[in-house]
Amino acid sequence: MKEPLDILKDVFGYTSFRKGQSAIIERILEGRDTLGVMPTGAGKSLCYQIPALTLGGLAVVVSPLISLMKDQVDALRQAGIAAAALNSSMKWDETRKILDSVRREEISLLYVAPERFENEAFRDLFKTLDARLFVIDEAHCVSQWGHDFRPSYLNLSKMVAALAKRPTLAAFTATATPEVRDDIARKLELREPFVLTTGFNRENLFFQVEHPKDKLEFLLTYVKKFSGAPGIVYCSTRRGAENVRDFLRGKGIDAVRYHAGLEDSERRESQEAFIYDRDPVMVATNAFGMGIDKSNVRYVLHFNMPGSIDGYYQEAGRAGRDGTPADCTLLFAPRDIVTARFLIEQGEDEEGKRAAYRKLQAMVDYCNTGRCLRAAILEYFGEADVPQNCDACGNCVSSTERADVTVEAKKILSCVFRIEERTGRRFGSGLLIAVLRGSQKDPIKPLGLDTISTWGLMKEYPRDRVKEMVDFLTAEGLLAVSEGEYPVLSFTPRTRPFLKGQEKLLMHRRGSQKGPEEVERKTSPTADQELFKRLRVLRRKLAEEQEVPPYIVFTDAVLYAMCSSLPQNGEELLAIPGVGKAKLARYGKSFLQVIREWRAVRKIQRQGDCENDRFI
Ligand code: ADP
Repeated sequence: MKEPLDILKDVFGYTSFRKGQSAIIERILEGRDTLGVMPTGAGKSLCYQIPALTLGGLAVVVSPLISLMKDQVDALRQAGIAAAALNSSMKWDETRKILDSVRREEISLLYVAPERFENEAFRDLFKTLDARLFVIDEAHCVSQWGHDFRPSYLNLSKMVAALAKRPTLAAFTATATPEVRDDIARKLELREPFVLTTGFNRENLFFQVEHPKDKLEFLLTYVKKFSGAPGIVYCSTRRGAENVRDFLRGKGIDAVRYHAGLEDSERRESQEAFIYDRDPVMVATNAFGMGIDKSNVRYVLHFNMPGSIDGYYQEAGRAGRDGTPADCTLLFAPRDIVTARFLIEQGEDEEGKRAAYRKLQAMVDYCNTGRCLRAAILEYFGEADVPQNCDACGNCVSSTERADVTVEAKKILSCVFRIEERTGRRFGSGLLIAVLRGSQKDPIKPLGLDTISTWGLMKEYPRDRVKEMVDFLTAEGLLAVSEGEYPVLSFTPRTRPFLKGQEKLLMHRRGSQKGPEEVERKTSPTADQELFKRLRVLRRKLAEEQEVPPYIVFTDAVLYAMCSSLPQNGEELLAIPGVGKAKLARYGKSFLQVIREWRAVRKIQRQGDCENDRFI
């Protein structure tokens, strides 16, 4: 039996396990059922692929989408592993052929769509295969409480129970909530499972929220800054996605669109153009993404605020799956709240709507907070002891001056108190701002609000600035906003102590916030861009020949490592994480050649420099 560490090195080209991986692998090898809860990009696939190869024999992997299965099978084959996939759109003879090779023990990992098990003939065939390991990927699909429930996942436990010899079960998900986690263990009938949760932080992602005056202008500069690297722009509506795509195209940027209103064929074409790096910018609604395993997405820009942090983190998380730095930027405008409310109001169920408003408020608070954005996200998902300064989000690294708004905050909060005292009821931010700015319009005069002590206290401030401060107070937990279509304001347990105390309140100045040009992003590791481009061109050519997406040949991380270590021979190339023996044999020569040529060009340039030096 080969050791897991040797397989990690020889097959996948990595030198050490990541957090959680070896613990899971050990338990699976001991024959214990396992549930791994790890964020996207953490390396869940190796957690079952390595035990499968260590154990020998057959491992069956249930995966919900054809595209995901294809990606995994392509990646394994590239690494020299015999893998195959069965899905319900396949013809019987194709299925039979694959099953025959499984029986001849020619396949190590067999990927199967869950719907396959609904077919009785298939179930009978399957029982004869004698799998040692049964893996359930995207296991949250078994839970009705999760976001991607798939009824056919519910049959899996019955399927396993019917086998003569029960295989070890290993389930994986990136879904955070404890309810879903427990539900997975129950519905899959895992036996005393070893459950490992690694936390949800994605260290390589840079988070930021921007409040630009002109979103399109911001977007254009932003996309250009990534000079052709793949990225996703999410819009909240189909119309929005159309406009943004047209705008980018009008500016000469290769962008494709994807939303539920398009023909299947166009959606497929867009997706392929994006996955194969032909059109680097994908402009889409949230219909795009599930099943996209593209590892080299360098940014995800939300052109509009999504309705919840859950949705936001899932979408933003599609950036940087390869572990190298990637950027997640959210463009906020107050109008986004109006759209989000409208979408919530389309729902029927009152309980569901209330929950949606709660989630929306958390999202709005995220957009307005001055604190660490990563901490805000992780705390939202219930993580404890989260560090409050990550040094890798817009708020932590922002060099913008922070204004002391303690006095303004006290004026605003006192005004909330006075209005309620005078009218005896709660009200929304519109009325509050109007009173603070000294308006006399209805219903201010009739209610006598022009005679309270806080009327006109912020006359000299523009409306937007006061609104920004009110939103900031909400985000900081000094004001609460009710759920519903017409939200009203109220104090929180923190408000009175703040009003009476000495606490200072600092707020970023939105107006002076830096534009995308100036914001220093840690998105591309220091690598020679020219060499990186050449390697990318070669990768695309090889990928096209093999009919696999470029990131399956090598990830961006591998190309960056080539740029910095400039390997000269096979041995040096093999030392790069992500280069295993099969890939070295298949691609080593071509990549070494490009690096050699580039070195030669560089040398000539250096000689040229020297010659010039002589004339100085
Ligand atoms: P997940 O399924 O958790 O989203 P993947 O299994 O797709 O993540 O892995 C994400 C990336 O991390 C892949 O490019 C994979 O090759 C890489 N990876 C996995 N394990 C390791 C490791 N131990 N060392 C370095 N890279 C790894």
